Amino acid sequence: MTTIVDGNAILREIQESSRDTFAKVAADRGIPPRVAVIQAGDDPGASLYTRHLKRNFETAGVAVDVHKLPVDATLPEAQEAIGRLSADPAIHGIQIQTPTPEHLPLRELVGALDPEKDLDGIHPLNAGLLAQGTPSIVPATPLGGLEILLRHKVPIEGARAVVIGRSAIVGRPMALLLLARHATVTICHTRTRDLPHITREAEILACAAGRAGLVGLEMVRPGAAVIDFGLNVVDGTVLGDVAPEAAERAGLFTPVPGGTGPVTSAMLLKNALVLYQRALGVEP
Ligand code: NAD
Repeated sequence: MTTIVDGNAILREIQESSRDTFAKVAADRGIPPRVAVIQAGDDPGASLYTRHLKRNFETAGVAVDVHKLPVDATLPEAQEAIGRLSADPAIHGIQIQTPTPEHLPLRELVGALDPEKDLDGIHPLNAGLLAQGTPSIVPATPLGGLEILLRHKVPIEGARAVVIGRSAIVGRPMALLLLARHATVTICHTRTRDLPHITREAEILACAAGRAGLVGLEMVRPGAAVIDFGLNVVDGTVLGDVAPEAAERAGLFTPVPGGTGPVTSAMLLKNALVLYQRALGVEP
């Protein structure tokens, strides 16, 4: 029997529990939780995600300030805006919306971000802590992948884990999270030879390639835990990196949509709560 992960149920549960904790801390300390979202330009994907993020945080009782920078904002102007929010004690977390315009590369913007307000774990300090095996604030998407494995009691220690994708925001941190929990991890990418041979060994298979249907049923080891991060819009339909029929062979499977996506939102709430509690000196 394959366990199909219900990401929306996980999100609802975490929205509820974090709303209670946010409310309790806010009542004790008299300081309401507040996060800021910075969106440079008007990319439709980024705008959609901003609206979605706002609703997610507001459901948990967290105020959201949306700062839209004009598409022609210069790099110093964008850095100055991020620096100003970083210095604002009323703001507990900051999200820089991607994709950013070409002249405002994310790697140039993160330097202005206070790592203690880094909602999605993109600051090099937080990435470095994860790389050293001592994670602090971790990107929400891979953190959600780990949350799914832990909730479903998938054994990680000693397991053969394969991650497809090595981006700084999904694949690479997923591999590092699994390594920190003592899995034996292989990272695959576009230049990997014989991908099916490698994926068939995986007891845990995490896919973050952004290629619809890249992983077919024959590439999945029977009983494997398959975590599909892929979100690919094909002819108006959202598809994962894993072909849906591969679920038959998996022991655990995250559908797209409704699997890892909502859990990413849940992990942003968790990250926001950690930053808020730290800022107020409250023990978690
Ligand atoms: P990216 O394009 O930055 O990285 C993709 C990685 O996959 C690269 O390292 C590349 O080498 C590898 N890759 C691509 N094609 C491959 C192939 N044919 N074989 C092997 N490796 C291949 O993308 P990203 O930002 O890491 O996002 C990956 C996917 O996850 C996208 O579909 C994105 O939309 C999705 N995503 C989902 C969530 C979520 O909440 N579920 C959040 C962020 C991103």
